[in-house]
Amino acid sequence: MKVNGYAATAEKSKLTPYSYELGPLGSEDVDIKVSYCGICHSDLSMINNEWGMSQYPFVPGHEIIGEVLAIGDAVKNLKVGDRVGLGWMSSSCMSCEQCMDGSHHLCGSSEATIVGRNGGFADKVRGHWSWVIPLPEGIDMSKAGPLLCGGITVFNPIILAGVKPTDKVGVIGIGGLGHMAIKFLKHWGCEVVAFSSNPNKKQDILNMGANKVINSRAPEELESIAGQLNFILNTTNVSLDWNSYLMTLAPKGRFHTVGAVLEPMAIPAFSLIMGEKSVGGSPIGSPALTKTMLDFCVRHEIYPQVEEFSMSDVNEAIAHLEEGKARYRIVLKN
Ligand code: NAP
Ligand code: ZN
Repeated sequence: MKVNGYAATAEKSKLTPYSYELGPLGSEDVDIKVSYCGICHSDLSMINNEWGMSQYPFVPGHEIIGEVLAIGDAVKNLKVGDRVGLGWMSSSCMSCEQCMDGSHHLCGSSEATIVGRNGGFADKVRGHWSWVIPLPEGIDMSKAGPLLCGGITVFNPIILAGVKPTDKVGVIGIGGLGHMAIKFLKHWGCEVVAFSSNPNKKQDILNMGANKVINSRAPEELESIAGQLNFILNTTNVSLDWNSYLMTLAPKGRFHTVGAVLEPMAIPAFSLIMGEKSVGGSPIGSPALTKTMLDFCVRHEIYPQVEEFSMSDVNEAIAHLEEGKARYRIVLKN
């Protein structure tokens, strides 16, 4: 089957029309007709080869919403015509300890949708049935794409950390991931402090449900909430004054990063020792938790705030994100 997409052909290149053959459908494969695809900052990092693992040409896009076009003969959970989503991961081995334990996102031989293969800035994409997520009834397809990567990436840490409705929490960086985190934590019942470097976003952030907005780049402002936060989620990919953030944690508080900060994060041991604090990170979440999150989103009408671009305007859309202008997640429409 022929796929028509948009590919980066070299580091930092613009995307250009690119067609390729998918090859024979494997017995556990699912082909998807792409309706919408979100743009995650990770697409940008892969186009620019910031993580040193990009192979060109490649088609970015891993926040995919569409319809099943074809299934391999061993696929039991999906049928042609089903509405589905595909996120950062497109396959896992299904036999390692992590897969058998329901933690497919920690599988050592998993495959990522845009690493060494082609993703969703295209008319079709292929995935293993385990990661092709059936969409719940009533979901808004035009806004659901970003939930498949950005959404589950910020939902999983809330579960991992056992965040309680009575907790006071912080979210650093109010972009695609951060704004979805605020919405989830608000519906969880938490008091939410947002840390943003952009004063122009303040009213939007309060409208999303944050109780307070603090300048993420002003360590002295963080002193006003010293010792108060039970949980902090970092979604920025830049270096900030991490020790000031550890000081805002309450005893037993947890600092969790999903933002792909490239430089080592300097964490003084005594900032953790005093107060039994901890630091962690995580990649996306399991397929089962992704389904749970989508149900939660439909029940509470939680969607990203979306700016829609046509798939053929992909380069304008990427430039919009790169310039920090996205409010708050871009979705491409086929
Ligand atoms: P995004 O939409 O570009 O948002 C990032 C936000 O970080 C910006 O909106 C900005 O928020 C803040 N920021 C950017 N530059 C900054 C600077 N110089 N100083 C202070 N703050 C700055 O990106 P995204 O799609 O949400 O992705 C965020 C990160 O998560 C990326 O590193 C991405 O690769 C990573 N990611 C990880 C996973 C995972 O599995 N762990 C999954 C998806 C994405 P303010 O304007 O509010 O300051
Ligand atoms: Zn992503």
